[in-house]
Amino acid sequence: MANQKVDILGVPFSKLSMEQTVRLVSEVIEKDQQKPFHIITANPEIVMGAQTEPLLKKITEEADLITPDGIGIVLASRWKNDPVYERVAGYDLLLKLLEEGNLFGWSFYILGSSEEVNQLATDKIKEQYPNAVIAGRHNGFFRGKEEELIRDINEAKPDVLVVALGAPRQEKWIFEHKGELHTKVAIGVGGSLDVIAGAVKRAPVFWQKLNLEWLYRLISQPSRWRRQLALPQFAVKAFLESRRDVQNPRKK
Ligand code: UDP
Repeated sequence: MANQKVDILGVPFSKLSMEQTVRLVSEVIEKDQQKPFHIITANPEIVMGAQTEPLLKKITEEADLITPDGIGIVLASRWKNDPVYERVAGYDLLLKLLEEGNLFGWSFYILGSSEEVNQLATDKIKEQYPNAVIAGRHNGFFRGKEEELIRDINEAKPDVLVVALGAPRQEKWIFEHKGELHTKVAIGVGGSLDVIAGAVKRAPVFWQKLNLEWLYRLISQPSRWRRQLALPQFAVKAFLESRRDVQNPRKK
Protein backbone atom coordinates (compact mmCIF):
# COMPACT_ATOMS: atom_id res chain seq x y z
CA MET A 1 0.00 0.00 0.00
CA ALA A 2 1.37 3.40 -0.93
CA ASN A 3 2.26 5.30 2.18
CA GLN A 4 1.99 8.96 1.33
CA LYS A 5 3.80 11.21 3.73
CA VAL A 6 4.02 14.81 4.83
CA ASP A 7 7.24 16.13 6.29
CA ILE A 8 6.82 18.16 9.48
CA LEU A 9 10.03 19.71 10.80
CA GLY A 10 11.98 16.86 9.25
CA VAL A 11 9.74 14.05 10.53
CA PRO A 12 7.91 12.09 7.79
CA PHE A 13 4.30 11.57 8.90
CA SER A 14 1.99 9.02 7.33
CA LYS A 15 -1.13 10.41 5.66
CA LEU A 16 -3.01 7.13 6.00
CA SER A 17 -6.36 7.05 7.79
CA MET A 18 -6.78 4.83 10.85
CA GLU A 19 -8.46 2.20 8.69
CA GLN A 20 -5.68 2.25 6.09
CA THR A 21 -3.07 2.08 8.86
CA VAL A 22 -4.66 -1.06 10.29
CA ARG A 23 -4.78 -2.54 6.77
CA LEU A 24 -1.09 -1.79 6.28
CA VAL A 25 -0.26 -3.53 9.57
CA SER A 26 -2.34 -6.55 8.46
CA GLU A 27 -0.31 -6.71 5.26
CA VAL A 28 2.92 -6.59 7.23
CA ILE A 29 1.75 -9.41 9.50
CA GLU A 30 0.66 -11.56 6.55
CA LYS A 31 3.97 -10.96 4.78
CA ASP A 32 6.00 -12.60 7.53
CA GLN A 33 8.86 -10.14 7.24
CA GLN A 34 12.12 -10.62 9.13
CA LYS A 35 12.89 -7.24 10.67
CA PRO A 36 10.30 -5.70 13.00
CA PHE A 37 8.13 -3.07 11.34
CA HIS A 38 8.62 -0.13 13.70
CA ILE A 39 5.61 2.14 14.22
CA ILE A 40 5.93 5.44 16.05
CA THR A 41 2.80 7.31 17.00
CA ALA A 42 4.51 10.67 17.23
CA ASN A 43 3.32 13.79 18.97
CA PRO A 44 4.88 17.30 18.94
CA GLU A 45 7.18 16.31 21.83
CA ILE A 46 8.85 13.67 19.66
CA VAL A 47 9.14 16.09 16.75
CA MET A 48 10.77 18.69 19.02
CA GLY A 49 13.08 16.03 20.47
CA ALA A 50 14.19 15.09 16.95
CA GLN A 51 15.25 18.72 16.37
CA THR A 52 17.89 18.60 19.08
CA GLU A 53 18.69 14.95 19.66
CA PRO A 54 20.49 13.24 16.75
CA LEU A 55 19.56 9.74 17.99
CA LEU A 56 15.86 10.57 17.98
CA LYS A 57 16.22 12.12 14.52
CA LYS A 58 17.84 8.90 13.26
CA ILE A 59 15.10 6.80 14.89
CA THR A 60 12.39 8.81 13.11
CA GLU A 61 14.27 8.51 9.82
CA GLU A 62 14.53 4.75 10.12
CA ALA A 63 11.04 4.01 11.47
CA ASP A 64 8.71 2.22 9.06
CA LEU A 65 5.60 4.23 9.89
CA ILE A 66 5.08 7.45 11.83
CA THR A 67 1.47 8.29 12.57
CA PRO A 68 0.14 11.70 13.64
CA ASP A 69 -0.58 11.47 17.35
CA GLY A 70 -2.02 14.75 18.53
CA ILE A 71 -3.93 17.65 17.12
CA GLY A 72 -0.69 19.67 16.86
CA ILE A 73 0.57 17.42 14.08
CA VAL A 74 -2.80 17.48 12.29
CA LEU A 75 -2.86 21.30 12.37
CA ALA A 76 0.76 21.59 11.25
CA SER A 77 0.00 19.43 8.18
CA ARG A 78 -2.99 21.64 7.37
CA TRP A 79 -0.86 24.78 7.61
CA LYS A 80 1.37 23.20 4.96
CA ASN A 81 -1.64 22.59 2.70
CA ASP A 82 -0.67 18.94 2.77
CA PRO A 83 -3.03 17.53 5.42
CA VAL A 84 -2.83 14.16 7.07
CA TYR A 85 -6.13 12.30 6.82
CA GLU A 86 -6.80 12.18 10.56
CA ARG A 87 -5.23 11.78 13.96
CA VAL A 88 -3.93 8.24 14.52
CA ALA A 89 -3.15 8.23 18.25
CA GLY A 90 -1.25 5.42 19.97
CA TYR A 91 -4.05 4.36 22.29
CA ASP A 92 -6.65 4.35 19.49
CA LEU A 93 -4.36 2.43 17.14
CA LEU A 94 -3.61 -0.12 19.85
CA LEU A 95 -7.32 -0.79 20.38
CA LYS A 96 -7.88 -1.12 16.63
CA LEU A 97 -5.00 -3.58 16.35
CA LEU A 98 -6.43 -5.60 19.25
CA GLU A 99 -9.83 -5.63 17.50
CA GLU A 100 -8.23 -6.82 14.27
CA GLY A 101 -6.10 -9.28 16.21
CA ASN A 102 -9.25 -10.60 17.82
CA LEU A 103 -10.70 -11.27 14.37
CA PHE A 104 -7.63 -12.91 12.91
CA GLY A 105 -5.97 -14.51 15.94
CA TRP A 106 -2.86 -12.29 15.97
CA SER A 107 -0.51 -12.71 18.90
CA PHE A 108 0.64 -9.85 21.11
CA TYR A 109 3.42 -9.42 23.66
CA ILE A 110 2.55 -6.75 26.21
CA LEU A 111 5.65 -4.97 27.52
CA GLY A 112 5.73 -2.00 29.87
CA SER A 113 4.25 -0.15 32.85
CA SER A 114 4.32 -1.34 36.44
CA GLU A 115 3.77 -5.04 37.19
CA GLU A 116 0.32 -4.31 38.57
CA VAL A 117 -0.79 -2.23 35.58
CA ASN A 118 0.73 -4.68 33.10
CA GLN A 119 -1.05 -7.63 34.69
CA LEU A 120 -4.36 -5.80 34.95
CA ALA A 121 -4.19 -4.44 31.39
CA THR A 122 -3.30 -7.90 30.05
CA ASP A 123 -6.24 -9.46 31.91
CA LYS A 124 -8.59 -6.83 30.49
CA ILE A 125 -7.24 -7.38 26.97
CA LYS A 126 -7.75 -11.16 27.32
CA GLU A 127 -11.29 -10.57 28.48
CA GLN A 128 -12.22 -8.06 25.78
CA TYR A 129 -10.36 -9.66 22.86
CA PRO A 130 -10.60 -13.39 23.63
CA ASN A 131 -9.42 -14.53 20.19
CA ALA A 132 -6.29 -12.40 20.25
CA VAL A 133 -3.40 -14.45 21.60
CA ILE A 134 -1.37 -13.02 24.48
CA ALA A 135 1.97 -14.61 23.74
CA GLY A 136 3.68 -13.04 26.73
CA ARG A 137 3.93 -10.01 28.96
CA HIS A 138 6.51 -8.22 31.10
CA ASN A 139 6.51 -5.04 33.16
CA GLY A 140 8.54 -2.06 32.01
CA PHE A 141 11.14 -2.09 34.78
CA PHE A 142 13.68 -4.68 33.65
CA ARG A 143 17.07 -3.09 34.19
CA GLY A 144 19.69 -5.85 34.45
CA LYS A 145 17.25 -8.43 33.09
CA GLU A 146 17.17 -7.28 29.51
CA GLU A 147 18.72 -10.39 27.99
CA GLU A 148 16.16 -12.57 29.71
CA LEU A 149 13.36 -10.30 28.52
CA ILE A 150 14.51 -10.40 24.90
CA ARG A 151 14.79 -14.19 25.09
CA ASP A 152 11.23 -14.35 26.42
CA ILE A 153 9.92 -12.12 23.60
CA ASN A 154 11.79 -14.16 20.99
CA GLU A 155 10.42 -17.42 22.32
CA ALA A 156 6.93 -15.94 22.15
CA LYS A 157 7.55 -14.64 18.57
CA PRO A 158 4.53 -12.29 18.68
CA ASP A 159 2.93 -10.70 15.66
CA VAL A 160 2.81 -7.41 17.55
CA LEU A 161 5.14 -6.27 20.32
CA VAL A 162 3.34 -3.58 22.31
CA VAL A 163 5.87 -1.38 24.13
CA ALA A 164 4.54 0.92 26.84
CA LEU A 165 7.63 2.55 28.34
CA GLY A 166 6.61 6.15 27.61
CA ALA A 167 7.93 8.27 24.75
CA PRO A 168 10.70 8.51 23.69
CA ARG A 169 12.10 5.74 25.93
CA GLN A 170 10.07 3.10 24.08
CA GLU A 171 11.18 4.37 20.64
CA LYS A 172 14.83 4.22 21.73
CA TRP A 173 14.41 0.74 23.18
CA ILE A 174 12.77 -0.63 20.03
CA PHE A 175 15.42 1.02 17.85
CA GLU A 176 18.28 -0.32 19.94
CA HIS A 177 16.96 -3.90 19.85
CA LYS A 178 15.35 -4.02 16.39
CA GLY A 179 18.07 -6.27 15.06
CA GLU A 180 17.55 -8.99 17.67
CA LEU A 181 13.79 -8.92 18.25
CA HIS A 182 11.65 -11.62 16.65
CA THR A 183 8.38 -9.81 16.15
CA LYS A 184 6.67 -8.68 12.97
CA VAL A 185 5.55 -5.33 14.33
CA ALA A 186 6.82 -3.20 17.23
CA ILE A 187 4.81 -0.22 18.39
CA GLY A 188 5.31 2.26 21.25
CA VAL A 189 2.06 3.09 23.00
CA GLY A 190 3.13 5.38 25.88
CA GLY A 191 0.76 5.32 28.82
CA SER A 192 -1.91 3.22 27.05
CA LEU A 193 -1.67 0.28 29.46
CA ASP A 194 -2.41 2.65 32.35
CA VAL A 195 -5.59 3.68 30.54
CA ILE A 196 -6.62 0.09 29.72
CA ALA A 197 -5.98 -0.94 33.34
CA GLY A 198 -8.07 1.99 34.52
CA ALA A 199 -5.19 3.61 36.44
CA VAL A 200 -5.32 6.76 34.27
CA LYS A 201 -8.41 8.16 32.60
CA ARG A 202 -8.36 9.18 28.97
CA ALA A 203 -9.96 12.53 28.15
CA PRO A 204 -13.72 12.14 27.66
CA VAL A 205 -14.78 12.00 23.99
CA PHE A 206 -16.25 15.50 24.33
CA TRP A 207 -12.77 16.92 25.08
CA GLN A 208 -11.23 14.83 22.30
CA LYS A 209 -13.75 16.16 19.78
CA LEU A 210 -12.92 19.72 20.78
CA ASN A 211 -9.23 18.86 20.21
CA LEU A 212 -8.53 19.61 23.84
CA GLU A 213 -7.12 16.27 24.95
CA TRP A 214 -3.78 17.95 25.71
CA LEU A 215 -5.53 20.39 28.07
CA TYR A 216 -7.36 17.57 29.84
CA ARG A 217 -4.04 15.79 30.35
CA LEU A 218 -2.44 18.94 31.67
CA ILE A 219 -5.27 19.46 34.19
CA SER A 220 -5.50 15.82 35.28
CA GLN A 221 -1.71 15.22 35.43
CA PRO A 222 -0.27 18.69 36.18
CA SER A 223 3.21 17.24 36.75
CA ARG A 224 3.42 16.93 32.96
CA TRP A 225 3.48 20.71 32.43
CA ARG A 226 7.20 20.76 31.73
CA ARG A 227 6.81 18.17 28.96
CA GLN A 228 3.96 20.12 27.46
CA LEU A 229 6.15 23.19 27.04
CA ALA A 230 7.17 21.53 23.77
CA LEU A 231 3.69 22.22 22.40
CA PRO A 232 3.86 26.03 21.96
CA GLN A 233 7.46 25.75 20.73
CA PHE A 234 6.34 23.17 18.18
CA ALA A 235 3.42 25.36 17.07
CA VAL A 236 5.67 28.35 16.38
CA LYS A 237 8.32 26.32 14.52
CA ALA A 238 5.81 24.32 12.48
CA PHE A 239 3.90 27.47 11.54
CA LEU A 240 7.06 29.25 10.38
CA GLU A 241 8.05 26.17 8.37
CA SER A 242 4.63 26.06 6.72
CA ARG A 243 4.87 29.73 5.68
CA ARG A 244 8.26 29.04 4.12
CA ASP A 245 6.85 26.04 2.26
CA VAL A 246 3.78 27.89 1.03
CA GLN A 247 6.03 30.67 -0.33
CA ASN A 248 8.43 28.15 -1.82
CA PRO A 249 6.26 25.14 -2.76
CA ARG A 250 9.08 23.15 -4.41
CA LYS A 251 10.65 22.61 -0.99
CA LYS A 252 7.57 20.70 0.23
N1 UDP B 1 7.38 3.16 32.25
C1 UDP B 1 7.97 1.91 32.17
N2 UDP B 1 9.31 1.80 32.39
C2 UDP B 1 10.09 2.87 32.71
C3 UDP B 1 9.48 4.14 32.77
C4 UDP B 1 8.10 4.25 32.53
O1 UDP B 1 7.31 0.92 31.88
O2 UDP B 1 11.30 2.69 32.89
C5 UDP B 1 5.93 3.24 32.00
C6 UDP B 1 5.12 3.92 33.07
O3 UDP B 1 4.82 2.98 34.10
C7 UDP B 1 3.90 4.35 32.28
C8 UDP B 1 4.45 4.64 30.89
O4 UDP B 1 5.73 4.03 30.85
O5 UDP B 1 2.98 3.28 32.18
C9 UDP B 1 4.64 6.13 30.59
O6 UDP B 1 3.44 6.72 30.47
P1 UDP B 1 3.34 8.25 29.96
O7 UDP B 1 1.91 8.62 30.11
O8 UDP B 1 4.36 9.10 30.61
O9 UDP B 1 3.75 8.07 28.43
P2 UDP B 1 3.40 8.98 27.18
O10 UDP B 1 2.04 8.50 26.71
O11 UDP B 1 3.39 10.40 27.60
O12 UDP B 1 4.50 8.63 26.23
